[in-house]
Amino acid sequence: MQKELFAIFGNPVSHSKSPLMHNLSFNGLNYDACYTRYLLEDGSKLKETFFALKLKGVNVTVPHKEDAFNACDILDPFAKKIGVVNTIVEKEGKLYGYNTDAPGFLKAIAEFEDVRTVLFLGAGGTAQSTSSILKEEGYEVTLLNRSEGRLEKYKEEGFETYTFENFTPKAYDLVINMTSAGLEDDSLPAPKTILDTVIPLSSACVDVIYGKETPFLKLSKSYDKPTKDGSDMLLYQGIIAFEHFTNYAYTFDEIKPIMQKAFSL
Ligand code: NDP
Repeated sequence: MQKELFAIFGNPVSHSKSPLMHNLSFNGLNYDACYTRYLLEDGSKLKETFFALKLKGVNVTVPHKEDAFNACDILDPFAKKIGVVNTIVEKEGKLYGYNTDAPGFLKAIAEFEDVRTVLFLGAGGTAQSTSSILKEEGYEVTLLNRSEGRLEKYKEEGFETYTFENFTPKAYDLVINMTSAGLEDDSLPAPKTILDTVIPLSSACVDVIYGKETPFLKLSKSYDKPTKDGSDMLLYQGIIAFEHFTNYAYTFDEIKPIMQKAFSL
């Protein structure tokens, strides 16, 4: 059998940890495959690029996750519901699409016990898939966003939504930074006056940003709250994607210790 080739499509894509995570896992599990990165500029060319490169599967990152959805022939029910695909596998000439970000996130927050109410700071693409899976699982999700525009579709889906102007802080089991505030700057995801009220009332704080201590996590720690960054979310979406790539040849727990090494290199 010819060596299977996988890739990550994105723009930018040079920073991605996915090639390291997947190559470590292919090597560690003796699976005959190789994973590379590909700077895809035009998302509408995703399908033809996939076949031109003779790929077996891809992960898709910003800004092409909706184009990935449109490129697929067969969609898993959750990906179909949310309209966002981050993992594609080719089987007999057809492209199968999945979303592994949301189940990865769900698994990452599972360590926090007795969680029912969750406050999302931010309402972008990541919030879209993760809020949907949390709702399916019975969590009560409230969204607080800087601007009104992105909240419209959440309102239509029955979520409680607020902007900074009309939000009244109360206690939540988890407060999660779903924004990019703190990723490349020192900003907080919401005004400090709001966070200084809502964090002390809440039980724990999570950030989806990984690899650094954001101002949000710093502030949460100053109130002695349990915190967690986005590393496990990234790891778990990768493990679930790897399960799809290898057609469930390995269990989650077999893949985890190997893929995890990518975070200590
Ligand atoms: P989007 O661009 O889709 O959405 C960005 C959101 O952040 C919007 O709600 C926006 O508000 C808000 N925002 C941006 N800057 C600020 C700020 N300075 N203050 C307040 N709100 C702000 O981003 P994504 O959903 O794609 O990504 C969000 C974060 O998730 C990123 O940091 C990304 O790195 C992280 N991520 C982590 C993953 C992981 O595996 N750990 C996986 C995927 C993403 P507005 O509507 O007002 O513009």
